[in-house]
Amino acid sequence: MAKYNDAKCRLCRREGTKLLLKGDRCFTDKCAFDRRPYAPGQHGRARKKLSDYAVQLREKQKVRRVYGVLEKQFHGYFVHADMAKGVTGANLLAFLERRLDNVVYRLGFANSRTQARQLVRHGVFTLNGHKVTIPSLQVKVGDSVEVPEKSRTIPVLAEAQEAVARRGCPSWLEVDAPNFKGIVKALPQRDDIQFPINEHLIVELYSK
Ligand code: SF4
Repeated sequence: MAKYNDAKCRLCRREGTKLLLKGDRCFTDKCAFDRRPYAPGQHGRARKKLSDYAVQLREKQKVRRVYGVLEKQFHGYFVHADMAKGVTGANLLAFLERRLDNVVYRLGFANSRTQARQLVRHGVFTLNGHKVTIPSLQVKVGDSVEVPEKSRTIPVLAEAQEAVARRGCPSWLEVDAPNFKGIVKALPQRDDIQFPINEHLIVELYSK
């Protein structure tokens, strides 16, 4: 599968906000956005007035980059969100939140979604007792994500668990850290997503 390989910090600088793509580093003084809070490139510091379209496009790119999803798959989520009952924007965010790599990150088994995706691909987790390697799997209410005994000594898991104590686990998930287990208690609601997102801009963009 194709993936974005360039410097992640450039993405934060391009979107003009901290996307928290590098785990703990994002909260240290090494954060590139804190040091250079303007767009990358020769004209990055120039003030530009964005058109309505550009504002919508930037919002979509921001969300896509936060969850590490490529355009085609992101558009697929929008199509499903549009067909589902309820508010399209909230549905879209719920589909993104329910990705297995995001759930692993939220449960504190990884420091970032990128790391979560890598761990899932390496088969570190089980879903309802079965080994899984597909980061985009959608979790359901009652699903259980677990790290089997043999994988519990992986150092990044311990580091990530310390980080989630600071970050907090959303209310739709329940984590049993000593037993390396997480349960999906409910489907994510719009209020569960604290990151500032104007999802209506994405809906407007795709509805043109
Ligand atoms: Fe973004 Fe800063 Fe994290 Fe880099 S370190 S990904 S600039 S928040």
